[in-house]
Amino acid sequence: MISSASLNGRLLLPGGSFVSGTLHFGTHITALEEGPQTGGPLILPGFVDTHVHGGGGGDAMDGAEGVRTLARLHARHGTTTLLPTTMTNPWDKVLAALRGVREVMDTGGVPGGADVPGAHLEGPFISPQRLGAQPPCTLAPTPERVAEVLALDVVRAVTLAPEVEGGQAAALAFAQAGVRVGIGHTVADADTVQACLQAVHAAGGRTAGTHLFNAMGGIQGREPGVPGALLADPHSFAEIILDGFHLHPLSFLLARAAAPERVLLITDAMRAAGQGDGESELGGQPVTVTGGRASLAGGSLAGSVLTMDVALKNAVSVGVPLPEASRMLSRTPARSLGLEDRGELRVGTRADLVVLNDDLEVQEVYVGGERLAR
Ligand SMILES: [Zn+2]
Repeated sequence: MISSASLNGRLLLPGGSFVSGTLHFGTHITALEEGPQTGGPLILPGFVDTHVHGGGGGDAMDGAEGVRTLARLHARHGTTTLLPTTMTNPWDKVLAALRGVREVMDTGGVPGGADVPGAHLEGPFISPQRLGAQPPCTLAPTPERVAEVLALDVVRAVTLAPEVEGGQAAALAFAQAGVRVGIGHTVADADTVQACLQAVHAAGGRTAGTHLFNAMGGIQGREPGVPGALLADPHSFAEIILDGFHLHPLSFLLARAAAPERVLLITDAMRAAGQGDGESELGGQPVTVTGGRASLAGGSLAGSVLTMDVALKNAVSVGVPLPEASRMLSRTPARSLGLEDRGELRVGTRADLVVLNDDLEVQEVYVGGERLAR
């Protein structure tokens, strides 16, 4: 039972300005009161991570307990909503992982952790030619498999390659079920991507680029490629892993310049997030974490050990003003999923809050009005 509470500090308003004041809330925000005191900690909407495989030793592929573990680890870093993200794996394992997320949602969520409004299905409907760190277990998105997934009523975002057989039909089926369609792990040309995005939008669906610039090739004048098609589209969102390893800061700033309201930051974190350097695992493959860089035996990047608080600092450190960086971590990802009840501080939204000091270190986190133990 959550009674009403209040917090004093510098509140980040939806328009992008900070005002000193008091935030009143129960499970949802009930009032924002300006003044009279000044100063205090920074109070931001909690972070929304649409792409996270693991953390704290847990992984979405482990089942319900893995989901609870990762949701608690990331909540300590300010994430108040996340989509546990599956790996491309044998079909039975993928379905079992989705059932694990569904079980968590059906049993009251994760006490002491982030809210879990669904899962992100990353593959197996991707290109075998652009696996990244995904194991070679790709499958065609047949209508039967898509129906099997949708029957679980748990997937809120999917990543697929539009050029694989049945790819565009699957994209439409997911979109019609309210699932955000992510273009990723693909060797499609720009025209194929554009056609898929436009078809999904015409059907009223939402789209995103899955970890923009990673596992999708690049941009050239005569071949704008997947990132070019995504950034040129006026409606598509774009996930970015701003960990210092996955892309050059200028690539991030390019995306921001092209799509300032549509860039959202994700962690793509794997089980070793929050665990320090050492040996770990991703999708059944051994991973080594050295200096915060997670890699497979061959040296290629294997997800990240990023947390959203660090992503916020990284964005600010390359020159993005704090209110804009906050939007990339909260409001924009929430919008990309159609979650209108969170992502900004206004009356009526969920009391999902992160309290930061001036060094942007997390001091307190509230999920649905409940303060998490630290
Ligand atoms: Zn990926």
